[in-house]
Amino acid sequence: MTFQIETVPCLSDNYACLAHDPETGATAVVDVPEAAPILAALKDKGWRASHVLLTHHHADHVQGLDALLAEHSAQVVGAAADAERLPPLDVALEEGERVAVGTQTGIVIDVPGHTVGHIAFHFPDSDVAFTGDSLMAMGCGRVFEGTPAQMWNSLQKLMDLPPETMICSGHEYTQKNAEFALTVDPDNHALISRKDAIDRARAKGKPTVPSQLSEELDTNPFLRARSPAIQAQLGMTGADPAEVFAELRARKDRF
Ligand code: ZN
Ligand code: FE
Repeated sequence: MTFQIETVPCLSDNYACLAHDPETGATAVVDVPEAAPILAALKDKGWRASHVLLTHHHADHVQGLDALLAEHSAQVVGAAADAERLPPLDVALEEGERVAVGTQTGIVIDVPGHTVGHIAFHFPDSDVAFTGDSLMAMGCGRVFEGTPAQMWNSLQKLMDLPPETMICSGHEYTQKNAEFALTVDPDNHALISRKDAIDRARAKGKPTVPSQLSEELDTNPFLRARSPAIQAQLGMTGADPAEVFAELRARKDRF
């Protein structure tokens, strides 16, 4: 059996994710932007949180933790590298280390760039990865602490996951991301039709997260720094993909 995944809208545009193992009842909460909607979603499902997986230290991903722990006794798991800045961790992990949530095993991937201690959790048996503010639907996190080259390296690790992997990321930024993507990849038919689907979903108030890695590979410009069409659009034909990524990120920052 695999995880049942629930996306929980929090704050104005954040997501927490719930990952429930039906065999054991174990349930991971991934990031805690605020407690109330997460507590309500857990109650609605009849699930008890057993783990909290934190992707990075920003307040909009951790600030609901105490209020969640007041009602659910869960193990808090995060990056050893950022243990000083994260809330107190029960389990501090490094790249390649594993965390079991019921029958499912998550593998930690270091994805620095947005913050230097940012991690993702890949659960191969459920074909899901929790990527926080690293890889997002049609976008990627702003590079606050690391360098663009570091972020590009992080994204390449995620690009190597199986293409059927579902990407659970931390924000509903997809419509704006799609608008930007069209400015650098205007002739990409997969992108044009995905943007239509996103606009329809948002018009109905539906989340666009999670998304499948395969569609990100086809339409997310930040994963397409090697694309000849994007390179040509930027006037960077033949350039180092890390430099193309840096230019894409800089343009998005100004968009
Ligand atoms: Zn963040
Ligand atoms: Fe965030």
